[in-house]
Amino acid sequence: MAKKANNVKVTFLGGVGEIGKNMTVIECGEDMIVVDMGVAFPKEDSPGMDAIIPDITYLKQNIKRLRGVVLTHGHEDHIGAIPYYADVLKKTPIYGTALTIGLLRRKLEKDAKKCELKVVAEGDTIALGSIKVEFIKVCHSMAGACALAIYTAGGTVFMTGDFKIDNTPIDGKKTDIGRIAEIGAKGVTLMLGESTNVERRGSSTSEKVVGQNLEAIFAANRRKRLVVACFASSNYRVQQVLELAHKYGRKVVLAGKSMKGMVEVASACGELKVPKGIIVEGIGKLKPSETLILATGSQGEPLSALNKLSKGEFNKINVGADDVIVLSSSPIPGNEKAVYDVINALFRKGAEVIYDAMNDIHVSGHAYEEELKLMLTLVRPEYFMPVHGEFRHQHKHAMIARALGIPAKNIVIPNIGESYSVTAKGFRKHSNVPAGNTYVDGVVLEDGDAVLNDRRSLAEYGMLLVLAAVDLERGTLEGEPDVVARGFSLTDETQRSIKNAVAEAIHTADFDKTDIDEYAKCAKRAVRKLFLRDRQFPIIIPVIVEA
Ligand SMILES: [Zn+2]
Ligand SMILES: [Zn+2]
Repeated sequence: MAKKANNVKVTFLGGVGEIGKNMTVIECGEDMIVVDMGVAFPKEDSPGMDAIIPDITYLKQNIKRLRGVVLTHGHEDHIGAIPYYADVLKKTPIYGTALTIGLLRRKLEKDAKKCELKVVAEGDTIALGSIKVEFIKVCHSMAGACALAIYTAGGTVFMTGDFKIDNTPIDGKKTDIGRIAEIGAKGVTLMLGESTNVERRGSSTSEKVVGQNLEAIFAANRRKRLVVACFASSNYRVQQVLELAHKYGRKVVLAGKSMKGMVEVASACGELKVPKGIIVEGIGKLKPSETLILATGSQGEPLSALNKLSKGEFNKINVGADDVIVLSSSPIPGNEKAVYDVINALFRKGAEVIYDAMNDIHVSGHAYEEELKLMLTLVRPEYFMPVHGEFRHQHKHAMIARALGIPAKNIVIPNIGESYSVTAKGFRKHSNVPAGNTYVDGVVLEDGDAVLNDRRSLAEYGMLLVLAAVDLERGTLEGEPDVVARGFSLTDETQRSIKNAVAEAIHTADFDKTDIDEYAKCAKRAVRKLFLRDRQFPIIIPVIVEA
């Protein structure tokens, strides 16, 4: 047992092979910690779902050894799953910086009382059993983001978290390169590096540049009403917009629940400085030249403030030729259509729309290739795993690590559900643990995959109801079955063949004719067989009643 205690083990429950629902388990001996518990947003392949969260079976199995949850920062793909698992985490302390915990507390609503939320400062080190975790300041698109140095008896694991290197950050707090270099010099066994922007050459642009370009828009449109849409979580962007509004004599109306929430939480913990009296409740008698609407919905979200504005459904505001609408964001892959739909609708109303495709009014919060190289060079890990990306991002990041001199045998591209120890002889792979998608549709679904399969079948093939009455004593059909189709049309001929097939199957098949459920199965099989010939797979629902 003593030998086992000396190896550090990492298990991936999300955030690898995908961008979203980050969740990593780190273990050493009897102690276990979790880093981040995020959501992923549903795409076309999961119609109607609210969210996708990690499968945490492995965590539940080992809950007694769980010493704490550590959060790198407050983005949804890092904290969004926690409210769904509040009951599981009841006795587990959850650590993060002030903004991260503030946002989480707001998301948890009344469940916040159940959870043990603990605020740390950048630079703090906490002890979770035998494992120590140091929070290191990094720049990102929101404040309070940290890389983590995780000190275990089996060596140090360095997780970059989401980061960029910004030499002119809005709040003056730079990525703590000095501390990262120190940790690297002391020896890092394993590094997990985020890979989001590995495909982008060079280095990311400073957040400050966005402010300069936004100011040009303010200066050029003094008489018009301005609407700026961005992620509510981008406190630095919000900060710059508020300052510009102040400078150009505009009052700010916050549009969208999450924008109001973010401004409240971020200003409460000092990560947002709101100029006095600048935020007003409604537009009231303000002239266009005195108004700025700061809205959510830069991703085209259907229920967001910007979408409502584009349809004339927000606060009775009629968007028109007096408006300049700025989308200070770029569409997340998969959201393009929704975003361009909103842009089209706003142009149709006569407004001027300025979006990132034409102007530098957005910068990414994730490191580009050269920044990733710098991070690897500072940390100088013995072993490396690229994370926070799809496989192509991870692959490219692995190539960079190779080019920087990390031997191929010391690099692994982890997949979801995989578990590795780092031993004196190198990586040791353990058997996979349960991992994957858990779907949320109002509530956490126990059988989400089955629900999704049904939805896909319904969308593609429709649904067929077969209604029949049977005489259980005689074991026969009463009259002829009825057939109802939804989502496709039924010809008289098909209808006839379905009726005949059901009648014949019930008549000839060998089953327990006193059991009503057996009739249903028999009818379903008969209809399924009929449709299989044409490779059609409608959902078939037999409804059998006793005559
Ligand atoms: Zn992030
Ligand atoms: Zn992220």
